[in-house]
Amino acid sequence: MSKCAVEIVAVLLVVGMVAGCGGGSSPTTPTQTGTVSTGNTGMTVNGIPLSELPATQTMTVMPVDPTAVTYMSPFRPSHTGIDINTITGGHFLSPGAGIVTNIELNTGNGLPGGSNYGIRIHLTSTGLYAWYHFEVNGSISDQVQRDNILVALGDRVSAGQHIGNLVSLGKNAHVHFDMLDAGGRDAVQCPLVYFSSAVATTWESLYDAKILERTSKLPDLCNEVDVPNP
Ligand SMILES: [Zn+2]
Repeated sequence: MSKCAVEIVAVLLVVGMVAGCGGGSSPTTPTQTGTVSTGNTGMTVNGIPLSELPATQTMTVMPVDPTAVTYMSPFRPSHTGIDINTITGGHFLSPGAGIVTNIELNTGNGLPGGSNYGIRIHLTSTGLYAWYHFEVNGSISDQVQRDNILVALGDRVSAGQHIGNLVSLGKNAHVHFDMLDAGGRDAVQCPLVYFSSAVATTWESLYDAKILERTSKLPDLCNEVDVPNP
C-alpha cells in the first residue's frame, strides 16, 4: 500500500490595492503572507499545527467591544471584509477558540502612510481564520504597535479573549476584519455567516445604528454588491 504524501505549499494571499479604506473612502484588501502545508500530519500554518482545532466551529463572540465602535462599512465581495472603526484603544476579541498564526508590524498596505499591524487567528483544523488588520490612519512606532498586540505567535486563545487594540489617529482609522477559509479571497463570504445567529443579529443592529448616525442610506451589512463605476 502506498502512502499519499502530498505537500502543498502556498503563499497565502496576495495583493491589495493601496487606497484608503473605511469611513467612506474606497476600500482595500490588506495583504498578508505565510506558508500553508497539508500532509500526513495535517495542516500547518507558519509551522504551527492546526490539528488540535475543531474541523468546524461556530463563532460566539463579536470580534470587537461594541461600546468602542464608531462606524462600520458593509461587506462587499471585492473588499472581502468588514471595516470596524473605533475610538483609540478599542478592544478587539477572538471570535472563537483558536491559535495565533501570524503577527505583522508595518504591513505596508491599507490606509496609506500608516503604521498598520495585523493579527491572524486560525479557528479550524481545515484552515478557517480571522484576520484583523489594524489601520491606524497615521504613524506610530514599532513599540506602540507591539504594545497594542496582546497575543504572540503560537498562542492558544479562547472565545472572547482580548487580542489587541486599535490605535486610532484619524477618523478613518479602523480594523479591516476578514474571515477566510481555504478558498481564499476568491471564495470569500461575509464574516457573519460564520457566527451564531444571536451574534449576527446583534452585529447587524450595531452596524445599522452606526450607519444611521451618518446617513439615511442603509446598505445591507452582508448583501451589498459591487457596482461597476459609471
Ligand atoms: Zn477594509
